[in-house]
Amino acid sequence: MIPLTAAAIAAATDGHLVPGTDPSLLVTAPASIDSRQVHPGGVFAALPGRRTDGHYHASAALAAGAALVLAARPVPAPAVQVTDVTRALGDLARHVADRLPATVIGITGSNGKTTTKDLATQVLAHHGPVAATDRSFNNELGFPLTVLRATPDTRYLILEMGARGRGHLSYLCGLVTPHVGVVLNVGTAHLGQYPDGQTGIAAAKSELLTGLPSADHGGLAILNADDPLVAAMAPLTPARTRWWSQRPHPNGVYARDVHVTPRGRACFTLHTPEGTAPVTLRLTGRHHVGNALAVAALALGLGLDHHTIADALSAAEPASGGRMQTIVRGDGVTLLHDAYNANPDSMAAALTTLSTMSARRRIAVLGEMADLGDHAAGAHHHLGVLAARAGLDVLITIGTRTAPLIADAADTEHSTLDIIAVPDSQAAHDVLSRILRPDDLVLIKASRAAHLEHLVAALSNR
Ligand code: ATP
Ligand code: MG
Repeated sequence: MIPLTAAAIAAATDGHLVPGTDPSLLVTAPASIDSRQVHPGGVFAALPGRRTDGHYHASAALAAGAALVLAARPVPAPAVQVTDVTRALGDLARHVADRLPATVIGITGSNGKTTTKDLATQVLAHHGPVAATDRSFNNELGFPLTVLRATPDTRYLILEMGARGRGHLSYLCGLVTPHVGVVLNVGTAHLGQYPDGQTGIAAAKSELLTGLPSADHGGLAILNADDPLVAAMAPLTPARTRWWSQRPHPNGVYARDVHVTPRGRACFTLHTPEGTAPVTLRLTGRHHVGNALAVAALALGLGLDHHTIADALSAAEPASGGRMQTIVRGDGVTLLHDAYNANPDSMAAALTTLSTMSARRRIAVLGEMADLGDHAAGAHHHLGVLAARAGLDVLITIGTRTAPLIADAADTEHSTLDIIAVPDSQAAHDVLSRILRPDDLVLIKASRAAHLEHLVAALSNR
């Protein structure tokens, strides 16, 4: 964080110093909302949680090294008391961002935000110090916490921005206005939350672009030319637009010669207005080509040369935490751990990836997709059709609500496919333990609520 006194923090958050707090006390480290993970010298923000309330842990946070507590109720000094701690974190982020020399980059989209943010972090690090969102902390809390991670020498501040509905990104941009906005795609994630369907999702994401600075003031919009709903956002932004595409584009960044290795790594030739360069991603799945192109367009717009970008993309570590993670067991079975989350787009991308990788047998273990509202039945039916057409040897569905729709649709589409419908992941584990053989390739994917990472963990211990 940029160093701030307790008095400055109180002024920025419209709060008051709790008696006994030295106004000149200096806060130098980032903020935290978990008293067990405070940054020594940083702010501890006391918030009500699901199981406990941060206010009860203020003393523990100070004992663990926090310099100052931000609270909505009386707590021991040193502390600043405010009306609303979440709003105060936002105010503090705004205050800090106004004083940061960093270029602020916002990334939104239905799919691939974290992957793209992690790629961008690794590529832009070749140009200067980067601060970025931790994991997917992309909401009204995670966003300010990320801003507070920046230091005076941060050159790029990369913010993952999740839109939970209309007005959400406008709110985040009101706290800290990015100089650069990246819109990856408009898919079907969280469709159930949008009464007006994909039009609503597109409108929610476009809020990142309307608030960008004009081209004259350095505003830059990085847009996906292949997604019509994203392409249609171009007239909404006053910023300069840079395009990326999977097809030749007259003045954008694009990929040619895209192919996927038998182990699933995506390779392509990066074409830029400045020249071409080969890229071999360490990420699994063709769908990451789009994420990599977005990063290439971003980095080019920020002044990196195309050779550096291509080399940095090829060296970038894949995101962890169940996003197409490859786990090779001692007995030669390969697990494709994609259980972090699922929606219709990422399910389709994962099945395509599975179908292009080489293996003795390809097995998909699919759980239910959450948050689709009225679209749930249709989406699970469609997933079954896709699974039947994906060249699988075995399909295992997990769940009792919408999962049977996957199995039924797959059965209707491809009656000779080996389909096993089980109620829960314990039953899936029992089946898999029985049938898995060396060189089998197993995709495991569902929405986060299904917690299939436990199944992955149980299967990995072999
Ligand atoms: P969240 O909204 O949960 O934070 P996210 O947008 O940050 O998600 P990632 O965490 O990068 O997305 O990826 C989530 C899942 O989507 C993974 O299974 C990943 O393989 C898949 N995915 C990533 N990029 C794309 C894409 N461009 N198209 C389809 N699926 C994708
Ligand atoms: Mg994310």
